[in-house]
Amino acid sequence: MRKLILFLFFLALSTTIVSAQQFDLVLEGGRVMDPETGLDAVRNVGILDGKIVRISSDALSGRRVIQASGLVVAPGFIDLHQHGQEMESQRVKALDGVTTALDLEIGAPDVAQFLKTKEGRSLINYGSSASHPAARALVFGAPLPPGEILPKSGPATDQPATPEQIMRIEQRLLSELDAGALALGMGIQYTPGATRLEIIDMFRLAAERRVPVYTHVRSSSRVDPGSSIESVSEVIAASAITGASLHIVHINSSCLRDSLECLSMVEGARARGLDVTTEAYPYIAGMTYINSAVFNPGWQEKIGGISYGDLVLPNTGEHLTKERFEELHNSSTPQPVLIFSNSQEVLDKVIPHPLVMIASDGFQGHPRNAGTYSRVLAQYVREKGTITLLDALRKMSLMPAEMLERSTPVARQKGRLQEGADADIVVCDAATISDRATFQKPMEPSVGVRYLLVAGTMVINEGKIVPDAFPGRALVGGAGLQD
Ligand SMILES: [Zn+2]
Repeated sequence: MRKLILFLFFLALSTTIVSAQQFDLVLEGGRVMDPETGLDAVRNVGILDGKIVRISSDALSGRRVIQASGLVVAPGFIDLHQHGQEMESQRVKALDGVTTALDLEIGAPDVAQFLKTKEGRSLINYGSSASHPAARALVFGAPLPPGEILPKSGPATDQPATPEQIMRIEQRLLSELDAGALALGMGIQYTPGATRLEIIDMFRLAAERRVPVYTHVRSSSRVDPGSSIESVSEVIAASAITGASLHIVHINSSCLRDSLECLSMVEGARARGLDVTTEAYPYIAGMTYINSAVFNPGWQEKIGGISYGDLVLPNTGEHLTKERFEELHNSSTPQPVLIFSNSQEVLDKVIPHPLVMIASDGFQGHPRNAGTYSRVLAQYVREKGTITLLDALRKMSLMPAEMLERSTPVARQKGRLQEGADADIVVCDAATISDRATFQKPMEPSVGVRYLLVAGTMVINEGKIVPDAFPGRALVGGAGLQD
């Protein structure tokens, strides 16, 4: 009996200790939403040492308590496709709700150097794939100039590689994976000289190293040869042949008016047991460098049948003519150009599709850099009502986290608003969140994100960037995933 009393005493004591636990930060009374468990309820969230430690209806005590009533508390958005990794882009990403922004389509030309320059100087989490176009350029003797991620059109993009060159490309990619790359990044449209066999060889390498291939497919024409259907078939076949996981980037701008057909191909591949995923961004225009191989002769057909006037320079709004196009295409300066090639009608069907994750393809010059996530929440959740808020959060956080789990176990703690998850959290006003970036003012930050936490550290406080907070960490591939 005495033992029981003693036990009850200690039980009561320990319960008191737990409930009196002091958190670093408490988000109080917000609408807590977790796309994995479906939780959508008013809760208090206790954060300690960079982790979500408690989610409860009980009052929690913290060194700092943020009143979140009326606000949505959700996992921070994970952008799998963000080229602009410099500070100005990171600021607008944070204000758009993004806590992790990775360049997985193409990736940095030198992963070790990229990770080194970001360490301790990053607002949000970062990471890169191993770049096939950069490795190819290096092997062809035309390494990318500092700061550039895509090769200029030339022999390194247009010529087929010899078996010896393919071996050297593979060696380079392996060392990039060893340096911490999360995936193999392939922009096949940027290296049209790469044969079908070279693509399969690269997928084989990814399969051996158990990393996914993120790819921008070969061509976006509406007719064969070079149709988007053929291009999507090529990479699905390479995935089936090799067993490598495949992520098709920006299906909206790669398949244009055939996007729904391409999505049905992804759906079919998945139904046959292949690991194929995809993403889209909510704008009708794309953007890339005008001196890249995307604009090699025949580009009009390969970009869905557009012409010179559909190419527009960012900021100035200048529509190109044939003469101006030739001048810029032949220049060694990588001038970004907006490509108006899609329709709102197609986009409005692609974004809500259940297989489509949201990813921005962001870099300076296009409003998608700053506005992608808020735009989906404003236009598709609030105005058109074609996606529920929880499904939108799933597309922005859980689905990309699950994709990342193929190459890094730390992704299991991301994209979730759960006890034990990393405290990468967005607190926003679902009633007012909106994009402000336009084609005329592409760096205008979004409004509506009130707080943003990266590993428990506040990056946005009351709608404003916190000065000198650099909690962003690297996501790197490899560790612990080989079985
Ligand atoms: Zn692309």
